[in-house]
Amino acid sequence: MIIQLEKNITEEQFSNLKEKLKTFSYKSVKVSTQFSDYIIGVGKKEFDIRSIGTMEGISDIHRVSDAYKLVSRKWKVKETQIDLGDGVKIGQGAFQVMAGPCSIESEEQIKSTIDHLVKNGVKIMRGGVYKPRSSPYSFRGLGIDGLKLWHQHAKAAGLKIITEVMMTEQIDDMLEYVDIFQVGARNSQNFNLLDALGKIDKPIMLKRGISGTIDELLQAAEYIFSNGNEKIMLCERGIRSYETAYRNTLDINAIPILKEKSHLPVIVDPSHGIGVRKFVDSVALAGVMAGADAVIMEVHECPEKAFSDGQQTLDYGESKLLIERLKKTSEFRKEIGLR
Ligand code: PEP
Ligand code: MN
Repeated sequence: MIIQLEKNITEEQFSNLKEKLKTFSYKSVKVSTQFSDYIIGVGKKEFDIRSIGTMEGISDIHRVSDAYKLVSRKWKVKETQIDLGDGVKIGQGAFQVMAGPCSIESEEQIKSTIDHLVKNGVKIMRGGVYKPRSSPYSFRGLGIDGLKLWHQHAKAAGLKIITEVMMTEQIDDMLEYVDIFQVGARNSQNFNLLDALGKIDKPIMLKRGISGTIDELLQAAEYIFSNGNEKIMLCERGIRSYETAYRNTLDINAIPILKEKSHLPVIVDPSHGIGVRKFVDSVALAGVMAGADAVIMEVHECPEKAFSDGQQTLDYGESKLLIERLKKTSEFRKEIGLR
């Protein structure tokens, strides 16, 4: 159960509410976010929620019995929009492309990527400075110095930055230089990291775990929200299946299902989703047709020389063509009246 509190609820009204919940043997947890205060009531007993909804100091009440509540569409029917400032928005019909290399490699590469993105109207640049690699001997990123350098150039060009945070200890140092924190597939259920990201006021893009279910992804998002951060996006990036003909199985179905179950924007990552450069364009467009609010994709001046994930990375020519097609597809989707 989600009980939304009035901004000016008095201490007395608040303790009356908690007492009332106790009489139904409900456990209550207070959640305060950037936008509102809530009480999450957890219990089994069925009762008429109007007996609470009519109490003083309460603005709204909803029964949500799923394990995830605040991220559920059952409570918030209207889609959430993520506002990154300077007119860059994601969700509620606002579509964005996020593009850039798998890893930030050098100043030259940063400048060249920015030039490509600006020319093609992309507002958000992706790139990893802390890289989760299957082998410890692979390139693991330029770290905070790389992020500072990248931020300097991105800011001058008016671009927003999305990058992966791997550990709680990195958050403070990264905060000032990041517009969206990415939680990678391998950290999708790192609950300590999710708790910590729930305590900051920056948008989070949470990726689905390599073998994570939709329900697990939504519960992971609930960790962030219940710690106080409502600015969350969900990302489908492919799951591990029995198929070996491509890197991951992009679960296109997850896109409409997530949008139905949750009010949060849904992002599709076709690069990791298929892992094959030649087909990134088709699955990216399929993701948009399925309802994704943004696409995040890997782009490099010379994918053959990329330090990581070159096999799934587009060159600038391929990227330019796909960006045009993505924008057209997003418009076409609206034209034909898809929800
Ligand atoms: C990435 O975005 O480069 C990345 C490592 O993604 P994932 O966590 O989905 O593997
Ligand atoms: Mn990658």
